[in-house]
Amino acid sequence: MTATPAPIAFIDLKTQRLRIADKVEAALKKVLEHGAFVMGPEIIALEKQLAQWGGVKHALACASGTDALVLALMAKGIGPGHAVFVPSFTFVATAEAAVLVGAAPVFVDILPDLLTMDPASLQRCIDSCPSHLEPKAVMPVDLFGQPADYVALGAIAAKHGLTMIADAAQSFGAALHGTPVGALAEMTTTSFFPAKPLGCYGDGGAVLTDDDELIEILRSIRNHGQGRDRYEHARIGVNGRLDTMQAAILLEKLAIFADEIQARDRIANRYTQLLADVVATPVVIAGGTSVWAQYTMTTANRDAVIKALNADGVPTGIYYPTPLHLQGPYAAFPRDPAGMAVTEDKMGHVFSLPMHPYMDEATQDRIVAALRQAVETSP
Ligand SMILES: *Cc1c(COP(=O)(O)O)cnc(C)c1O
Repeated sequence: MTATPAPIAFIDLKTQRLRIADKVEAALKKVLEHGAFVMGPEIIALEKQLAQWGGVKHALACASGTDALVLALMAKGIGPGHAVFVPSFTFVATAEAAVLVGAAPVFVDILPDLLTMDPASLQRCIDSCPSHLEPKAVMPVDLFGQPADYVALGAIAAKHGLTMIADAAQSFGAALHGTPVGALAEMTTTSFFPAKPLGCYGDGGAVLTDDDELIEILRSIRNHGQGRDRYEHARIGVNGRLDTMQAAILLEKLAIFADEIQARDRIANRYTQLLADVVATPVVIAGGTSVWAQYTMTTANRDAVIKALNADGVPTGIYYPTPLHLQGPYAAFPRDPAGMAVTEDKMGHVFSLPMHPYMDEATQDRIVAALRQAVETSP
């Protein structure tokens, strides 16, 4: 008689929670006792540690990864009449933030192997930018946990005087040529949504920068445009603060983050070793590391493969089923004049496997066996 195998988690947050439960509970109790629920001492401590991780002087904790993007755009005065170059193959927030500040997203195609912003497509989008829009910023996305090609993209941004804002919601903790994500762009944003590699127990985000002036502007915008004192307002801002409780939780998660990144890398490499002959496994940029927010690959018969996997008890994800330039609210914004061929091709073929630092080899072997069989038997 064989026992029914335990269900496989797509992302296992429970094991992590149990690992640090005592520490988190003690940290939360401390916040309850000191009572500084907004902008308490844990916020300052977290910002210091985030800046260290990101290899920059400053970090600003904020309410979400989306707010982080909005704050970064606002800090540079980006708004109506401005073009912000973004990939279409991303979570909606990247383009949404541009629209929220009144700017126009311009959709850039992706590289076929790395799935991050294609520098040649960025150049075409800048060259063909409609005359009513002034090119202002480029926001590459570190899709699935690895840095975009900041060397090539940075050269183009510099040539055209564009601000570079890195959307590192999925890649905080990764690096490119030894430079940590956080120091690869003028400003870097990240998200602490629970399912991200560094997640809290609710919503949260951060902006990182080396710029002493920008951090002051960001601090002011995060808190209603505050000036020299609480009821003096130097600019239009928002309420974009992170709760102290979330900072307390993140400090405990940061203590095990390096260990978790190592585990993610080990598990991802093992997937690649065991699967490279049956599907197109993910490619990490030369000189870069990934924190494996997702383990995403492509296969010709994707829909049949994931149906077979799901029937076998293996959960899967599709990031992202529909690129932004094909979705109603974004359909009218400009895009690469040569088309969005790579983005449109990948959307029909990508799928992601369970990925988290606590996956044991037996579980991974089950997933691998199921995928190998699904690929063989799928039409
Ligand atoms: C998750 C995510 C965001 C938004 O973060 P929130 O904290 O959910 O607002 C932005 N960009 C990318 C690429 C993301 O994956």
